[in-house]
Amino acid sequence: MIFQRTLKNTIRCTGIGLHSGKKVYLSLRPAPANTGIVFHRTDMKGALVPATVQTVVDTRLCSSIANREGVRVSTVEHLLAAFAGLGVNNAYVDLDGPEIPIMDGSAAPFVFLIQCAGVVQQKSYKRWLRIKKPISVTQGNKKASFEPCDRFRVSFLIDFDHPLLSEQGEEMDITETTFIKDISRARTFGFLKEVEQLRSNGLARGGSLDNAIVMGDFRILNEGGLRYEKEFVRHKMIDAIGDLYLLGHPIIGHFKGVRSGHALNNMLLRKLMAHANAWEFVEGERVAQFLQPDAERQPVERPTPMEALTPAMGLSA
Ligand SMILES: [Zn+2]
Repeated sequence: MIFQRTLKNTIRCTGIGLHSGKKVYLSLRPAPANTGIVFHRTDMKGALVPATVQTVVDTRLCSSIANREGVRVSTVEHLLAAFAGLGVNNAYVDLDGPEIPIMDGSAAPFVFLIQCAGVVQQKSYKRWLRIKKPISVTQGNKKASFEPCDRFRVSFLIDFDHPLLSEQGEEMDITETTFIKDISRARTFGFLKEVEQLRSNGLARGGSLDNAIVMGDFRILNEGGLRYEKEFVRHKMIDAIGDLYLLGHPIIGHFKGVRSGHALNNMLLRKLMAHANAWEFVEGERVAQFLQPDAERQPVERPTPMEALTPAMGLSA
């Protein structure tokens, strides 16, 4: 647990970009210790784009990163969340287009790919980023913050002025188990009106009921309904976990998001980086002082096993 991890084998898949609607070939490959997650644009002379706080260039609809030459990779957050959730520190991600495929709109297909590839331990120590002091950013009624904690915990609250989705909140310790079972399958969501607007602006061309929950005025348009009762807020947790992984290190601390999104999440990370006294790196045997030993093995409180096994459930809440 205290050593870095990478993939055991290379694994490939194809999918479509949410905004471009174009087919993308994606490979996840093992990488040496201390590489981090590095994207590799095979269609752009092999340009490398490392996933870091500083390489984030656009956060309007998804998190996009770019290298110094301006080569971009968009919609990185669900894949990064899967790497974070499964404790993969180092990997190369080859893709032949500007956008990570949307798959089913959740992190589950990436979890499946990583599990198929296998995960191996490396020889270097993993470095955790431990939050030492509370730090926060606000923008209007949105807020994102970190607080010290002896584990990695995520709280999130969303509210929308919509009959199907008013207020929804969730708080959870993020371990490999909780991430896979309770978080990873939550899909991205949108309102039909917004989808139509995005389409008329040439965006969301690849968007469909196969890769997003779409809400009409009074009902969810997806035939199978929801995968989790709190699928909406849990998807926002995936986004946050993916965005936070741009730090390049697992976190020991409590992230709280209130109506936060990619832009505010990134503002929080930049503020954190600028306040060197608010955090520290912890590695090796020292980790035991700060990280709850049970955090990795804590029993899952919810949802019930039935819910995790049932592919879809109606909106009853
Ligand atoms: Zn998302």
